[in-house]
Amino acid sequence: MRFPSLPNLLRTLHTVSNTTGAFFRSTPAYTFGRTIYSTLPRAILYRSMPFFGGFLSSSRRMPDNTTYPVQKPEGEWQAQLSPEQFRVLRQKGTEFAHTGKYDKHYPTEGVYTCGGCEAPLYKANHKFDSGCGWPAFWDAVPDAVTQKADSDGSRTEILCSNCGGHLGHIFKGERFGNPKNERHCVNSISINFSPKDEESK
Ligand SMILES: [Zn+2]
Repeated sequence: MRFPSLPNLLRTLHTVSNTTGAFFRSTPAYTFGRTIYSTLPRAILYRSMPFFGGFLSSSRRMPDNTTYPVQKPEGEWQAQLSPEQFRVLRQKGTEFAHTGKYDKHYPTEGVYTCGGCEAPLYKANHKFDSGCGWPAFWDAVPDAVTQKADSDGSRTEILCSNCGGHLGHIFKGERFGNPKNERHCVNSISINFSPKDEESK
């Protein structure tokens, strides 16, 4: 198989990134992973994925003028976080599907906190199995998560309201049967889990 030229690859990736939202809206979540794997030649997918994440993050890296309570120079974040946490939380990257440590994690109690500032973001009972390959939550701790339209308007980004760390994206109207008809699609690397939920005790 001929490997596609760089412009063709870019075009393919751009199309994929722009249709991801539509995929989620129109495709039952459990088939999403299979669909994308079967519609892209595997070699292209594997070779392009690290680049894909970089491409997505660089195309969406817009200045965020929101003032968050926790403010740090990027150099300080870089020193505090692992390289992968920094790439996702501060540079709006995306981890590989089905690889995050909380993808198949279903505790009965506890709280998921921000990987950057430890603010409580999601309760254990907000989590559900969407089959999409990333942790999914149908609701968040009140006011803990901020929504912001991506620069191209195709998706809605979710960020920690305390430090502005990138969590993932939110998708609505997918009919998973949860009370809010929403799915917070969160990178595992953006969050930590504490079995003790201090707030509700
Ligand atoms: Zn945070």
